[in-house]
Amino acid sequence: MDKLIPKIGLEIHLELKTESKMFCSCPNDPDEVHPNLNICEICTGQPGVLPTLNKRALEYAIKLAKALNCKINEFNYFARKNYFYPDLPKNYQISQYELPLAENGYLEFYLKEEYKKVRIRRVHLEEDTAKIIHENNYSLIDFNRAGIPLLEIVTEPDLKSAEEAKAFVEELILLIRYLGISDANPEKGEIRFEANVSVNFGEKLGTKVEIKNLGSIRSLRDSIAYEIKRQTELIEKGKEVIQETRGFDETKRITFSQRRKEMAEDYRYFPEPDLPPIILDQEFINTISLPELPFQKRKRLKDEYNLSFKEVNVLVENRELAEFFEETFSEIKAFDENFDIKILVNILINDLLGFLEKYQKKLSDLDFTPIQLANLLIKLKNQEINIRMVKDILEEVVRENKNVDLLLKESSLVSNEKLDELIERVISANEKAVEDYKKGKESALQFLIGALMRETKGKINIQLAKELLIQALKKND
Ligand code: ZN
Ligand code: MN
Repeated sequence: MDKLIPKIGLEIHLELKTESKMFCSCPNDPDEVHPNLNICEICTGQPGVLPTLNKRALEYAIKLAKALNCKINEFNYFARKNYFYPDLPKNYQISQYELPLAENGYLEFYLKEEYKKVRIRRVHLEEDTAKIIHENNYSLIDFNRAGIPLLEIVTEPDLKSAEEAKAFVEELILLIRYLGISDANPEKGEIRFEANVSVNFGEKLGTKVEIKNLGSIRSLRDSIAYEIKRQTELIEKGKEVIQETRGFDETKRITFSQRRKEMAEDYRYFPEPDLPPIILDQEFINTISLPELPFQKRKRLKDEYNLSFKEVNVLVENRELAEFFEETFSEIKAFDENFDIKILVNILINDLLGFLEKYQKKLSDLDFTPIQLANLLIKLKNQEINIRMVKDILEEVVRENKNVDLLLKESSLVSNEKLDELIERVISANEKAVEDYKKGKESALQFLIGALMRETKGKINIQLAKELLIQALKKND
C-alpha cells in the first residue's frame, strides 16, 4: 500500500518597491503613518478615471519571472476580479487571469543540504487592497496601500513538508532581495502567504484545503504542519477531508474552518476594458538584465573557493560580506599564492560578522576596505601580529569605525630582543612559579606566559614566546 504523502502549493503576494503605485502616480510609501495621504481619484476608485500601467512595476515583474525561469507571455492582459469588500474601492481588483505575464517556471533551492526544485505555475501582476483597521467597536480604512503594485506567484503542489515550504519561501525572499524589486519583509506585509495542502496515498492529489492570510514564515510552516497532521489523522480514521478555506489561529497555533467550497466566491472575471493589453517583444525582455542569483552564487562560491555548504550559505545570504570576501581574497593572492582561505573565511564569518551583529552595524557603514583586511592577514601570516590582535583590531574597526593603519601602529608585536628582556624579567619576578616548573608542574609555565602577556598587553607571538621561555628556564638551571 502506498504511503500518505502531503502535497503543498503556495500562493504568494509580493509588494513591489516602486516609486509610485500600479495605476496612478501616488507615492508607494509603505512607511507612511498618516492614513489616507497617498491617495487620488484613481486608487480610491472614483467614477470616470482611467488607470495607467506603471512601467517600473512591469520591469520588476519581468525580472522576477526571468529569475524564476518562467516563460514570459509576449501578449498578456489585465482582468477584473469582481468582489465586494470595504478594502476594495472599485469593487473589483485589477489582476490577471486567463493570460498572466509569465508561466511555467521553477525555483531551485536546498533544504539543509538536499537539492529541491519547485515548479512555478504563474506570476501575474495585480494591485494591493486598502488596509482595514479594526478598533473596539468600529473599523477604519486606510487607502494608502490601495493600488500598490503586487505580484502574485503561484507554485505547483510540489512541496512535501512544512520545512520544505519554509526553505522554499526563504530562498524566494533571498532571490527577490537580490533582484532589488522588494524588501519582501513578511513583518511589514510586503510578502504574504497562502498554502494549499492536501494529503493522499502515493502521487495522487487529495482534497485541497486552502490556508489563508499567513503573515509570517513561522505561521506558514506551523499551519502547514498542523494541516498535514489533521488531514492524515482524518484519512487514517477513514473520515473525509472537506474542501474548504481555513484560517490560522496565531495564538492556539491551529487551523480553523472559514468557508466551505459551496460558498466559494465567483469573481466573474472579464478582461479589463480600461487598460490595453501588455505587448512585449523579446528585445525589450532582453534589456532587463539579472544579477548573479543566489543559486548560481552558491554554486560558484563552492566551486571557486572550495568552501563548505554552511560557509557558502552565510556568504550567499550576506551579499555585502561575500563581495568583501572575494575582493579580500584576490588582494591576498596577489601577495601570497598559498594563503589558507580558511583563515579569511573564519575571520569574516565568525569574527567580523559577529562584531557587525553585536554593534548593529553594516559593512557599508565602515571605511574598512578589503585591502586593509588583506594587509592585516598578511601581517598575521608573517607573524608581525597575532590572531588576538587581528580580532581586537576588527572589533575596534566595527565599534568605532577606527582607522586600521592607526590601530596597527599601536599594536605591532614586541621585538625579539625586547621579548628576551621581558622573559628575563618575568623569570626573576616569579621565583615560585619557576621552581614549580622545574619540579615538573606544567601549569606553572602557563602562569609565566600569562605574566608575559600582561607585560606586553598580549602583543606577542605566543608559540614563539613559549619556546623562548622554555629555553630561558633551561638555561636558568
Ligand atoms: Zn492614487
Ligand atoms: Mn491575488
